[in-house]
Amino acid sequence: MLEQRINEIFGDDGPTRFGSGWWSGVLSAFFGLLAFGAVVCLHFPQVLSSPELRPYYRMDLMRLVIQAVIVGAILCGVVSAMLRKKKVLALTGMTLALGATLLGGASVPINVELTAGPAIGLDWFLLDMLLMTLIFSPIEVLWPAYPQQSVFRPQWMNDIVYFLSTHLPIQITSFLILLPATQLTSTLNVAFIAEAVGKLPWLVQFLLAILVADLAQYWIHRSFHKIPFMWRFHAIHHSSKALDWIAGSRAHLVEDVVVRGGILIPMMLIFPQSINVAYLFFVNFHATWAHCNFGPTIKWLEPYFIQPRFHHWHHTSQVESIDKNFAIHFPWIDRIFGTYYFPKDRWPDTYGLHQENIPFGFWGQFFYPLWRRKAPPPHA
Ligand SMILES: [Zn+2]
Ligand SMILES: [Zn+2]
Repeated sequence: MLEQRINEIFGDDGPTRFGSGWWSGVLSAFFGLLAFGAVVCLHFPQVLSSPELRPYYRMDLMRLVIQAVIVGAILCGVVSAMLRKKKVLALTGMTLALGATLLGGASVPINVELTAGPAIGLDWFLLDMLLMTLIFSPIEVLWPAYPQQSVFRPQWMNDIVYFLSTHLPIQITSFLILLPATQLTSTLNVAFIAEAVGKLPWLVQFLLAILVADLAQYWIHRSFHKIPFMWRFHAIHHSSKALDWIAGSRAHLVEDVVVRGGILIPMMLIFPQSINVAYLFFVNFHATWAHCNFGPTIKWLEPYFIQPRFHHWHHTSQVESIDKNFAIHFPWIDRIFGTYYFPKDRWPDTYGLHQENIPFGFWGQFFYPLWRRKAPPPHA
C-alpha cells in the first residue's frame, strides 16, 4: 500500500515533538511539493489551472506565494537536516524546491491566451491544500481533542486522495453541481425573489443564506442516512475511524455532487450571486472545521453554532448517537426535528461505521455503493 511505503520511506522512530526536526522536515517536504506543483501549473496553465478560478487570481500575489513556499521548503529543510538523524524529509523538500527553481520558479511567464477548454484543477488543489493546512493543522497540533492521534494517522493518504478527487475534476463537478439550479432558475423565471432579497442588509442576507443552506443540507443529509441506496454512498464519509480536517473530505463523488447541487437549488432561487459565493467560502471553512481534531470549545455558543464536538458526535460508532446531528451550521435545527444528541462536555470514544465493513482505498470505496447488490439498512 502506498501509505505504508510512504511511512517506511519518510518515517522513523525518533520523537515528533517541536525541536526534533520532525515538523520542519514535514513542512519542507510539503512546501517543496506545493512549490514544484505550482511551477508546473505556471508552465501548463491551459490544462492545469481551473478556468473558474482564473478570473479571481491576482498573479502578483500568487507568484509571491510560490516564492514563499520555495524559500519555506529550503529553510525548513536546512533546520530539519541539522536537527534530525533521518534526513530524507529535508532532502526531499529541498530537492523539490531546487527543481521548482530550476524550472523557472515563481517568475515563469504565461504568454498564451488561456481558453475555457478542458482543464484539471491542480491549481485549486494546491491552493486549497496550502490554505487549509495553514489554517487547521497548527490548531490541531497545538490544541487537539485527541492528543494521542497523529497527523499521519491510519488512512491519511486515502483522505489526501479524496481531497485530490474533489479538486482536480472541478470543471466537471462544478458543471454538474450548478446544472439543476441554473436550469430551475431559468425555467421558473423568479429572478425577482433574489432581487428583493438583495435589498436586505448584507449580514441579514448572509445569515438567511446559511439557514436556508443548512435546512436543505439537513434533509439531504438525513435522506443519505435513511434511504438504504443513498446510505451506501454516505457510508464512505462515515468510515473514518479518526477525525481531523482532511478526514472531512472523504466523501463519494456522487454524494458530493448531490449534496452541493441540492443545496444550490434553493440558494440560487432565493439569493443573489454574491451571497452564494460568500456562502461557498463560508461552508468550505465551517464544514472543514467541524471535522477538526480540535479540543477547545466556546461553551455558551455550543447550542447555537456548530463547533467540532457536535459534528464529532455525528461521526461516532456509539449506538446512542447514530443518525443524530445532521445539521452542519446550526445545532438547533436538529433539536427542532428531533435528531439532537449532545452530551455535556464529552467527546465520543469511538468513530466509524457501526457493524459495517467497507473496502479500504479510494477505488474500492468508489465502486462499493455500485457493486453491492443489497445494502443492509443503515447502521443495522
Ligand atoms: Zn452523515
Ligand atoms: Zn462529517
